[in-house]
Amino acid sequence: MHRDRKIRLAVLVSVVVLLGAAVFVYQKMDNARVDPPPSLPAALTAQQMPADDETTAPETITANPGVTPSATKPLTPSELATAAEPTLPIGGRKWRIGISAGHGGRTGAHIGSDPNTGIWEDDLNLDVALAVNEAFQARGFETLMNRTTDVWIKKDPKIAMFRAFNPDVLLEFHFNTYEGVENPTGLEVYYYTERPGQKEMAELLAARAGAALGGKFKAVGDAEDPFYVCTRFTIGLLVECAYMDQKSDLQRLDTAAERQAFANACVDAVAEYLNSL
Ligand SMILES: [Zn+2]
Repeated sequence: MHRDRKIRLAVLVSVVVLLGAAVFVYQKMDNARVDPPPSLPAALTAQQMPADDETTAPETITANPGVTPSATKPLTPSELATAAEPTLPIGGRKWRIGISAGHGGRTGAHIGSDPNTGIWEDDLNLDVALAVNEAFQARGFETLMNRTTDVWIKKDPKIAMFRAFNPDVLLEFHFNTYEGVENPTGLEVYYYTERPGQKEMAELLAARAGAALGGKFKAVGDAEDPFYVCTRFTIGLLVECAYMDQKSDLQRLDTAAERQAFANACVDAVAEYLNSL
């Protein structure tokens, strides 16, 4: 009898130990379970979408070309010497900047009567956007561009791809054209007055980038009919870099070095704004 009790006791202890081990393993597995990622912002409904003003573009160029955030390039020695403090991560991640080159696929205006020889706004926008993208990456930002070649992405998929990226700041680059304005020159940064923060960011960007260009500059607020980037994103600004039909204006950005200086000024302004939050 004494021996049987010992055996029962041993069996009981074994069962308790095994149960404990099973509970421990289950908890470990539960902790290791990967939660599904938070759902991406719902796609905009047709009612929410502003009218697409680029409907004259060829319908075939609508697909997202699969642009993904490009890898951060290593800094060159000269960039290291001039780069400011690396941007601080927010919530364990880098700042994210969406960079949109306006138009594409020959949907923008062009200078000159011959479309084959005139300068196209699509190309000017892309040149500047690529320089800005490089400058942000060199300073440790994560970036996403809508396009890196002369293709056109319609507004709806463009908004969707940028919303999925969830940028802290979205900048769209354009070049202005003369439309009856007397002696139009200079940089213009458009913002939506109904979104807190846009005015401050726009004024900072206009001042820094305008100083780099050496011409006139201004931030332009609008509460009624601002551009889609302004209304669709917390900080979404539309930058009209210069008047493309004003030779003196266009010349401020006609070399790679000038575009680089402009791009660096954009980064300075955005970094200053974000780090002040
Ligand atoms: Zn444009």
